[in-house]
Amino acid sequence: MSYLADIGLEVHVQLQTRTKLFCGCRTDFGAAPNTLVCPVCLGYPGSLPVANQEAIRLTVLTGLMVGSRINSLSSFDRKNYFYPDMPKNYQISQYNQPLCSGGALDFDFQDQPRTVRLRRIHLEEDVGKSIHGSRQSRLDFNRAGHPLMEIVTEPELHSPAEALAFLLALKQMLVYGQISPCNLEEGNLRCDLNCSVRPEGAERLGTKIEVKNLNTFKGVHDALQHEIERQTAALGAGGKLVQETRRFDSARGVTESMRIKEEEHDYRYFPDPDLPSVTLAAELVKAWAELLPEMPRARCARLEREYGLPAYDAQVLAADKHIADFFEETLRQGAKAKAASNWIMTEMMHLLAKSEMDIRRVKITPSALADLLKLLDAQTITAASAKTIFAILFEKGGEAVTLVAQLGMEQVSAEDTLERWVREAVARNPKSADDYRAGKEAALKFLIGQVMRLSGGKANPQRVQDLLKKQLE
Ligand SMILES: [Zn+2]
Repeated sequence: MSYLADIGLEVHVQLQTRTKLFCGCRTDFGAAPNTLVCPVCLGYPGSLPVANQEAIRLTVLTGLMVGSRINSLSSFDRKNYFYPDMPKNYQISQYNQPLCSGGALDFDFQDQPRTVRLRRIHLEEDVGKSIHGSRQSRLDFNRAGHPLMEIVTEPELHSPAEALAFLLALKQMLVYGQISPCNLEEGNLRCDLNCSVRPEGAERLGTKIEVKNLNTFKGVHDALQHEIERQTAALGAGGKLVQETRRFDSARGVTESMRIKEEEHDYRYFPDPDLPSVTLAAELVKAWAELLPEMPRARCARLEREYGLPAYDAQVLAADKHIADFFEETLRQGAKAKAASNWIMTEMMHLLAKSEMDIRRVKITPSALADLLKLLDAQTITAASAKTIFAILFEKGGEAVTLVAQLGMEQVSAEDTLERWVREAVARNPKSADDYRAGKEAALKFLIGQVMRLSGGKANPQRVQDLLKKQLE
């Protein structure tokens, strides 16, 4: 019998606000432990939370991007449970009245358009971090109170690869919307998942298993892969599954049981008496909606329209917001569109992939790239020199013009110098010269290459070709 998997995701996204959700502590990543804390996020008795409007705005913007209903009235609830890194013994979350209900995310999977519906988007506070040593555990509360947006999907995904495509599209949208940097290494995006299998053709969903706390996309993929295999094997052997919560052991690639699933009423949710309900006036939501940043598809179309780029170029550049930003800034600094696109798609992306770097961390600036392309366009340098200079700028930064002067890379067009190199190349390669005279065009290309080598990549290739032809005839 063949089985169908039904997968739902709960994606936790750290919002890019300057301060925490209910206090004025900063949200910086990497600060010394317990330096970004105050009585509110440490849960001291008598301290009072005040909701961060920016966190509410970012959650509402996300809802608008996926077509959710924005609830004019929502509220914060206490979710009660004990956990060492949560000093209040409850987490402030949203239960009955989330900020956003419904909505859907469109994405492409295996070249087909897919839509997965969302159940809700709500706002809650992040908890602290336990750091386990061999003989002791320590607690860092810097993260406690960081605004965390939770996006809950319907169980409408059906394979690990499809779940991955969904997450990539979601991440792209959140980065574009400036909702979150979605930096997985910094824990900006974490995932719980639920997964069940049922015999093909069966209407009712199978027994739901949850897997908690996945913080890499690979982890989500591998945990799902394992769960689907495990559940299918169990049912195939005539066994039964129990509803439970499991954890993923990434080293072994398997999930293991944590606890039999708790029910929602176990958390004794109740409205937080310290926080007033959130009311959102329609005019305010409308004003926020008007400031929605441009989304990937719109940007792709605009890059094509505004700069006359081929569809392929526009798609490659728009796929990553920061690459598209770099491209447009390079144009503002005076570069021509197609040249900038070519260099970013080839040299830049090649070096980014090789060094596993984010374009925001490279040393080359859009203005340095624009200057380099201007030098190339004016034939001050050759394409070969431009590549060398690009690599230096990428690694060390600096100004293109200064580097060209320092390295003596100006293109040589002086007739007498070029003629000397041409004569030398022909003298050293008499066979190629004869081949060209006998009608072999390829021999000319070879000789041009030899002249370029003699010049250290600085000879003007067009002039070299003319001079070679003249010399050989
Ligand atoms: Zn605080």
